[in-house]
Amino acid sequence: MTTFAERDGDHYVLNGSKNFITHAISSSVAVVIARTGAKGDKKGMSAFIVEKGTPGFTAGKKENKLGMRASETACLFFDNCRIHRDQLIGEEGQGFVQALKLLDGGRISIAALSLGIARGAYECALKYAHEREQFGKKIYEFQAVSFALADMATQVEASELLTRQAGYLKDHGDRVSKIGAMAKLYASEAAVSVSNESVQIFGGYGFTKDYPAEKFFRDAKLCTIGEGTSSIQKMVIAREIEKDIL
Ligand SMILES: Cc1cc2nc3c(=O)[nH]c(=O)nc-3n(C[C@H](O)[C@H](O)[C@H](O)COP(=O)(O)OP(=O)(O)OC[C@H]3O[C@@H](n4cnc5c(N)ncnc54)[C@H](O)[C@@H]3O)c2cc1C
Repeated sequence: MTTFAERDGDHYVLNGSKNFITHAISSSVAVVIARTGAKGDKKGMSAFIVEKGTPGFTAGKKENKLGMRASETACLFFDNCRIHRDQLIGEEGQGFVQALKLLDGGRISIAALSLGIARGAYECALKYAHEREQFGKKIYEFQAVSFALADMATQVEASELLTRQAGYLKDHGDRVSKIGAMAKLYASEAAVSVSNESVQIFGGYGFTKDYPAEKFFRDAKLCTIGEGTSSIQKMVIAREIEKDIL
């Protein structure tokens, strides 16, 4: 983390930048985690609220993305951006712990987002497979197509069960680092796989914008990247399951 917040009397002065920020241009307020201590010190990060229009706080250009194009993404820049100490969230040094807690819940949201994309991709392919006829029969009657749909239906169901379990445990105040990462990992990878198969079932039309399959395919990929890539989820899960034998 290279954005710094330096204390100056009753104020903090922010300098640095943040990459790939959702709604960086359209939002009116940002939660910013910046370094208030030494590099590598878990207590050296703090979270702040920064309002749009604050001098020294600007957004960069809108990224030209593969998918999720309805939601803009851009950089945020802090150039001697002065904010009052009242804009500190909680206490100085709590930013790292606050971020981890947020990510545990956020990952369940990405799992739910993945599930919605996978379900949409599956349902439109199931419908199309009953409409499209080739060689005198509905393409659903080809085992290759119906088996692909059976796999997709199973992945959607499994994603829902993991996501619901994670949400249930969170609602009951349990720690959800492991189950949240599992739900996000599984559901996002399932969304990529299911939406890929959906495009395939649509054949040539899957590659056009006449049907929604291509959009599901493009949007799904973000879910394996945002809020931590699939490799990072595996690191979280591996750390958690190690505790089971200690
Ligand atoms: C559309 C979009 C919206 C976003 N919105 C936000 C937002 O609102 N707020 C915000 O803070 N961030 C946001 N992000 C950032 C997002 O969380 C990061 O892009 C994501 O976590 C991956 O980090 P990175 O881009 O630095 O990739 P890198 O860390 O550079 O990863 C590159 C590759 O290296 C691998 N890798 C990296 N480290 C390790 C490791 N330790 N072990 C194994 N493999 C590793 C990764 O898995 C990946 O395959 C957004 C990103 C996108 C694309």
